[in-house]
This record gives sequence, structure tokens and C-alpha cells, in this order.
Amino acid sequence: MPTCLFCKMASGEIKPDIVYENDRVLAFNDINPQAPTHVLVVPKRHITTLNDLQESDAALVGEMFLAARDVAIQTGIADSGYRTVMNCNADAGQSVWHIHLHVLGGRRMNWPPG
Ligand code: AMP
Ligand code: ZN
Repeated sequence: MPTCLFCKMASGEIKPDIVYENDRVLAFNDINPQAPTHVLVVPKRHITTLNDLQESDAALVGEMFLAARDVAIQTGIADSGYRTVMNCNADAGQSVWHIHLHVLGGRRMNWPPG
């Protein structure tokens, strides 16, 4: 999708601070970090929200979590702990309309989330 920020990152038109990449997913540092480590994992293919996932996307979503695991190891938060979050639509505060998995760590997380 030509106007989508994360599609532009996936195509290389905009260059984020990349921490992990393979043919199908890209992970980069969040521009407004909410924790010492705050990485976003996105599929390179555009999917607008979690509601738009198809059965055929199952492997791709699995790859997003495998990427999150690798990012956690790479950034040193795997053992101390981290949170993965995907916000969907307005009540969850989704602000970029291309699915992304937040990987947050490096501090104690609160529960329940706000
Ligand atoms: P959400 O509110 O769940 O849709 O998350 C969107 C995230 O994208 C927020 O945490 C933003 O800080 C982050 N974000 C927005 N623009 C950029 C950008 N240019 N580079 C990196 N992260 C961004
Ligand atoms: Zn997109």
C-alpha cells in the first residue's frame, strides 16, 4: 500500500532503525519508546489490522513471534522478560494501520495494562 508508513519501511523507501529482518518480516526500534527496549515487528506484506488476518496468514504471524523471540535474545531481554502486544483498532490505541507486534522490555511491566 503506497501511502502506508510501514509498507514504505518494508520496501526501503523509508529507513527505520532495523534490528532484525528476513524476507517476510522487519523489526525496528520504535521512534517513541515506552521501555528501554521497544521494538516493532511488522510483516513486509500489508495487513491493516488484526481483524483482517486470514487463515493463510497463520505462518506469517508465527514468523512475527519468532522474530520477536530473536529480537528479545539479541537485545538481552529474553531472560529478564518482555511483553508482546498487538493493538487492534481505536479502543486499543492502534495508530498505524499496518499490523505490528510491540516487543517491550528492560523494565518491570505493569499488569493490567492501561
Ligand atoms: P500503535 O499505537 O499500536 O499503532 O503503535 C504504533 C507505533 O508506531 C507507536 O509506538 C509509534 O511510536 C510507532 N511509530 C510511529 N511512527 C514511527 C516511525 N517512523 N518509526 C518507528 N516507529 C514509529
Ligand atoms: Zn502497510
